[in-house]
Parts: sequence; C-alpha cells; structure tokens
Amino acid sequence: MPQWQKLFTALREHDIRVSVSDMPRPVGGGGISSAWRARAENQPVFLKTGPLSSLEMFLAEADGLKELAQAKAIRVPKVLGCVYSRTESLLAMEWIDFQLASESTEWMLGRNLAKLHRYSADRFGWRRDNTIGPTRQRNGWSDDWVRFYKENRLAFQLELAAENGFRGDLQLLGMRLLDNIGHYFSDYWPEASLLHGDLWGGNWAAADSTPVIFDPAVYYGDRESDIAMTKLFGGFGPAFYEAYEEAWPMSAGHERRERLYQLYHVLNHLNIFGATYLARAERMLQEMT
Ligand code: ADP
Repeated sequence: MPQWQKLFTALREHDIRVSVSDMPRPVGGGGISSAWRARAENQPVFLKTGPLSSLEMFLAEADGLKELAQAKAIRVPKVLGCVYSRTESLLAMEWIDFQLASESTEWMLGRNLAKLHRYSADRFGWRRDNTIGPTRQRNGWSDDWVRFYKENRLAFQLELAAENGFRGDLQLLGMRLLDNIGHYFSDYWPEASLLHGDLWGGNWAAADSTPVIFDPAVYYGDRESDIAMTKLFGGFGPAFYEAYEEAWPMSAGHERRERLYQLYHVLNHLNIFGATYLARAERMLQEMT
C-alpha cells in the first residue's frame, strides 16, 4: 500500500486535493503499476503508483498522453499531474467510466486512428525515451525509418534478449534479418505518423460510445506498426479495420511487413515474460529469413 499522505501532499501542487479519509480503491486490469480510483473534491481520479524508479516511466507516459491529445483524433485521459515522495511516484489522470465497446465504437476507433496517424512529424522517433511495458523504448530523432526501426527497435530488443540469456538461434536469425531488412522497404517510404505504440486490446476501451486509448508508448513512425500490433493479440473486430481502410487505405506490401512489426512486440514479451515466447520469436524469424 502506498504511503498516501506524502503523495497527496505533493498532489496539492497540482491543485488536486485527495482526502485521506476516503481511501483509494485498487483497480484491476494493468500489469505494470498499481492502479487506483480515488476521490478529489468529489471528482473520481485515476492514479497509478509505483516505486520512485517508476517516475521516469510515469513522466514519459504523461508526455505521451499529452502528445496524443494534441492530435485531437482520439480521446485520451487528461493528465492531472505526476508527483513523487522520497520512495514512491504517482501519475494522476482523469477517471473515465468504461463500458463494453459496441461495433460502432470500434468503427469510430478505426476512423479516428487513421486521423491520429495523419498527424505527423518531419522525422521518425520522439524527443524523449519512454517505455514499452516495463522495457525502455529508445527514441531520439532520425531521418531514416529503416535504420531507426532496425537499431532502436529490433536490435535493441535482441541485445536485451542476449543479456537475458537468449543467445544461439535467436541471435543468428536476428542478425540475418537485420542484415536484410532493407528488402522490406525497397519500394515503400512511410510517413512519420504519431503512433500509440502499444495498441493491444487492453489499451483501448469505450466511454459514452466513444473510443478511448491509454497506456501508450508514443513515437512517430510507420502507421503499419500500430495496425500490426492490433493483430498480434486480437481485441479489434472487422469494423475497426474497415473504418481504418476507408479513411486511409493501407499501402501495398503491408502484409509482408506485418510480421516484421509484430516481431518487436514478441521480442519485448520474451524479455518481459521469458522463455514461453522464445519458440514464437524464433519461428517468426525463421519464416522471415
Ligand atoms: P498498466 O500501465 O499497469 O498496464 P493501464 O494504464 O493499462 O496500467 O491501466 C490499468 C487499467 O486501469 C486499464 O486496463 C483500464 O481498465 C483502467 N484505466 C486506465 N486508465 C483509466 C482511466 N483514466 N480511468 C479509469 N480507468 C482506467
């Protein structure tokens, strides 16, 4: 249980007054941090808490939510503030009551994701590093998408996997893929679209029939990587893909690149959850090399 008193005192700097007499209640669903529903002057607020070492992650998440909000494409929770005590850190945001998504909300998510992706930068990456799950996600800016994806995404996760003891075939196949990655982009030059970055089914929900996205790993990159992530673990119906395609058709050859983009998340799962993802990662690499 966090030491609420110290964190709530810090929150007053952001004009958020949470009463300790009304203890926050735990919320399930997340995996990385502890999540809570609290009351601040009769408004419910959503809190994420963790050790002081989570502060960087929370600050980057807050920045990512603000970047997504700027695009005015899909609703995201409004950030209220990020604070810390000597031992703990906390991210506060607007509480949103989620309901089960209808088909029309899924449709709206598809259309609005295309709008988010139209919000673009003139380079790939982002002005700060952030996290994908608990893993560091290296950003920085680059004019070269292929190099950015190769070095900051796949090579980064492969090196982490080696540090975690996953050597052998995974590394050999990985090196072979990295050497030949240019083949996937011989006639394709993506735009630097604003991405959610971690768009699996657990990171979006419906509120008042409107889609909401949260828990992002924001950066500017190929929009196909967001779409590939939606297909990795499910949670998105046909209406979502129809609406996206209607708003901004996918480019020729996207099917070929889908697995390349999913590989990043499978490697990240290998690094987070361990060997249960090894066979899947190696199979994907074998099929690609
Ligand atoms: P984690 O980073 O630990 O994965 P999430 O950001 O995914 O945490 O949040 C955990 C759960 O809390 C989500 O699955 C969602 O159901 C709920 N949630 C997230 N944001 C809000 C919010 N602003 N208001 C209400 N519930 C939320």
